[in-house]
Amino acid sequence: MTLSQQLLVQNQSVSAGLKRALYKALKEIDSQDVRSNLTFGPGVVYLSSEIGRIGRPVYFLVRPNTMKLITGSCLCGKVAFEVTGVPFKFLYCHCRSCQKSTGSVHAANMAFPEDSVRWTRGEDLIERFVDTSENPGFPRWFCRSCGSPVPKLSRNRQFWVVPSGLLDSDPGMRPQANIYWAEHAPWYVSADQIAKNEGSLVEQTD
Ligand SMILES: [Zn+2]
Ligand SMILES: [Zn+2]
Repeated sequence: MTLSQQLLVQNQSVSAGLKRALYKALKEIDSQDVRSNLTFGPGVVYLSSEIGRIGRPVYFLVRPNTMKLITGSCLCGKVAFEVTGVPFKFLYCHCRSCQKSTGSVHAANMAFPEDSVRWTRGEDLIERFVDTSENPGFPRWFCRSCGSPVPKLSRNRQFWVVPSGLLDSDPGMRPQANIYWAEHAPWYVSADQIAKNEGSLVEQTD
């Protein structure tokens, strides 16, 4: 099977003409050194050479037989889910809304296609809150029992935002970028700038 046969267009809003152009480009790439033309994530392929010319980002997904099932759950375990899609973004978000809702220095979220998250437990326990101050309209979903954030549909409802700390196994992908850096906490320092203790400090009461 060639690379182009293994790929399908995830973004349903892509026009037929654009799809044809992309498949044609992929077919040409099949005969070249693929890695020099494409950037690979876990199951995600960014057609870097064509994006500039066409002027909009398009994601390609590997077919389901190469997708990995990822499971996740909240702190109390009453809400659980599985993700069958392929992540196309993994970002640290430093916006004030994420600082407030996580109580931490930044959020760490993965984005998955719209049809990839399935609740396996506790969907009825999910509370849906909409931010009206720091990032008006931004949805915040969390477990009513323990308060953990849970996966949520994006504001435009076109993709899932999955808090990566909920995942039960290593998703393979690594964070790609910081976003909303303009709002980052003044007390932020990276983990590499401070001591790393294997466990809690004895004098710390946390
Ligand atoms: Zn919970
Ligand atoms: Zn944020």
